[in-house]
Amino acid sequence: MVVIRVALDVPIDTLFDYIAPDAVLQDVGFRVRVPFGKRFMIGIIMAVSHDTQISSDKLKQAETILRDIALPPVLIDLFEFCSRYYHYPIGMVVMNGLPSRMRNVRPLARSSHKLSLFRLTDLGRTIAPSSLSARYKVKQRLLTWLNEVGTINQIEARKISPRAPKILQEMQTQGWLKPVSGTWEPPLEISPFCAVPLTTEQTIAISAIQTEINQFNTWLLHGITGSGKTEVYLQVTSLLLARGKQVLILVPEINLTPQLEAIFRSRFPSTCLISLHSKLTPSERMEGWLQSQRGEASIVLGTRLAIFTPLPKLGLIIVDEEHDQSFKQQDGLRYSARDVAIFRAKQANIPIILGSATPSLESYHNAITGRFRLLRMSTRAVKNAVLPPIHYIDTRTHPLTEGLSEPLLTALDNCLNLQRQSMVFINRRGYAPVLLCKSCAWLASCPRCASRLVVHLKQKALCCHYCGHNEALPLACPQCGDQDLMPFGHGTQRIETALERFFPNARILRVDRDTIRRKGDWQTILDTIHDRKVDILVGTQLLAKGHNFPHLSLVGVLNADASLYSTDFRAEERLFAQLMQVAGRTGRTEIAGEVLIQTEFPDHPLYGALRQHDYDAYARLLLKEREITLFPPFSYQALLNAEAPEMTMALAFLNDANALAKPMNSIEIFDPVPAQMTRLKGLERAHLLVQSPSRKRLQFFLSEWYTKLRQIPNRKVRWALDVDPLEF
Ligand code: ADP
Ligand code: ZN
Ligand code: ZN
Repeated sequence: MVVIRVALDVPIDTLFDYIAPDAVLQDVGFRVRVPFGKRFMIGIIMAVSHDTQISSDKLKQAETILRDIALPPVLIDLFEFCSRYYHYPIGMVVMNGLPSRMRNVRPLARSSHKLSLFRLTDLGRTIAPSSLSARYKVKQRLLTWLNEVGTINQIEARKISPRAPKILQEMQTQGWLKPVSGTWEPPLEISPFCAVPLTTEQTIAISAIQTEINQFNTWLLHGITGSGKTEVYLQVTSLLLARGKQVLILVPEINLTPQLEAIFRSRFPSTCLISLHSKLTPSERMEGWLQSQRGEASIVLGTRLAIFTPLPKLGLIIVDEEHDQSFKQQDGLRYSARDVAIFRAKQANIPIILGSATPSLESYHNAITGRFRLLRMSTRAVKNAVLPPIHYIDTRTHPLTEGLSEPLLTALDNCLNLQRQSMVFINRRGYAPVLLCKSCAWLASCPRCASRLVVHLKQKALCCHYCGHNEALPLACPQCGDQDLMPFGHGTQRIETALERFFPNARILRVDRDTIRRKGDWQTILDTIHDRKVDILVGTQLLAKGHNFPHLSLVGVLNADASLYSTDFRAEERLFAQLMQVAGRTGRTEIAGEVLIQTEFPDHPLYGALRQHDYDAYARLLLKEREITLFPPFSYQALLNAEAPEMTMALAFLNDANALAKPMNSIEIFDPVPAQMTRLKGLERAHLLVQSPSRKRLQFFLSEWYTKLRQIPNRKVRWALDVDPLEF
């Protein structure tokens, strides 16, 4: 009897056995259609065996094995590692790591198997786009693209026009195009070309990695903002492309992908590059996945989910802005794409580069203790560009009008007079404009979450930033009827309005989640900034990340203090990183920059280190504190989260869980407590923290505990383990 073990997308941590008389060992990794309950599901064959624990009367037969595309064994290993390490059902790990298209019962359309990368023929090269009549706009644009970039795939074509894929076929019939074959061809010109000579620090970093290019190493590229980390990525990438390898690049923000994509495309014009992120349609994602799996895509650029892309010729992983929290998924499989990337690099025995101006304390600790290899770049790459001086405006002596102090307003005014760009950055963590009744102190709060509703003046609405709840601004206080309702606190909209009043002639642009809703918004904003069509930018953390704003010469920071005295032990680390990053947006060219920070605590050690641009000093200070308090990286943590309609239920579950835990050496279990967000989307939330000085011990404990937790009967409580949690 032949039995297959199948991974299915169901919340039960096991593989499911089915009889499959025609299955052979080579079927591991193929999709299979099997009956499950009253329906059919698509799963992945994880093993083929001759025995089973299931009694023969319960064993069902698999319906069809779909032998179209197979998951490579290394990807299966990767999924198994994630399931084991994060204690999450294997079937859900596998099925959620794959494009949703693969879960469709119908076989994948033939067309998505077809090769979709095109290149100009000799004939095609002789045709000037401008020689075509204006009726052939799409054709013109495709030709222009092909002349500039070298190749085009169907995803790229569809971005030019929905009709483009069809027109590509037409051009092929005309003999202008030929499909690029599926086997890898050396790109025509791999140019590690860089118009400027490398800096000494770049050269050192690149040659260090180059000498060990064929083996696993975690390189921490700690380079200040503007030190030219991107150039290091490009140079090392070109080394691997020349060897026919694939390169995976992870970025934290979907908004950072187009910029980096453009840089890589222009440097490697004839290389097949695909970008993978959550805004792709299911078929685009499937297409990108297949191109990677077939080894056609040489560069894969994407957000965290891209870590699960099959890459048979993987030769290098780059994680840009490695400190960024968005590498960690906060629901479902709570994985850290950075950590999984390190596992994957080790598995493939290839180098991985973690880049940041402000590494996470975990990575920094690993680097100074020798587990990671540290590469430093401490000067700016552009000639004459220096880090901006940082000054503090003491808000105890400089009162605020509408959140803005006199010295900051003067500095903004000076910038305007000199026709230079400035930016007002608002640290919004825990400090958004809320609606307050002045007579009875009523505060608008979310009916479903333990959060205040945020005032959106322009839309005349109150919104919950956790669950999305939305309601109209009330005209009077629902508690006392008073009509004197006041927005309290300073959000981006309110600061924007205030700035408009102070500087009626300035061109002001607000950048936050609300202004970049639609696809393309972000690019428009970047263009506006680069074309100097804006004088003052107002925005949140979105503006702090990785962007290059060459004309920016002043940064004002509001509300920074809000994170200084937080209960979250990582709040200071984050604030410091964020302010270093914001400060890094300015002074990138010969135009000198300046940073002004409004604060009540100018003497705080964080601000002292920031003034010196001294990441190391502050990181070491924070590490000392963590060592004394035994917080990560000096311990390893796991959080058992529980959600229920009532807090007592969540706590009761956690107490049961606590009772089931076997006391173990060097494992510390804390009491259950309500979560920081005690209510979310109508559910009460609590958690229980487990901590250990040894990752191995913690994993050992969790494995045993997890098996028992799964047996606690509970209907109303939803629970999940979060290993290496970042949010509490
Ligand atoms: P980072 O990512 O380290 O903050 P970037 O890679 O964005 O820095 O580089 C900052 C700026 O320096 C960019 O405008 C880039 O073109 C420029 N640059 C990079 N390397 C060099 C170099 N060797 N010489 C001159 N300019 C450089
Ligand atoms: Zn009131
Ligand atoms: Zn809410």
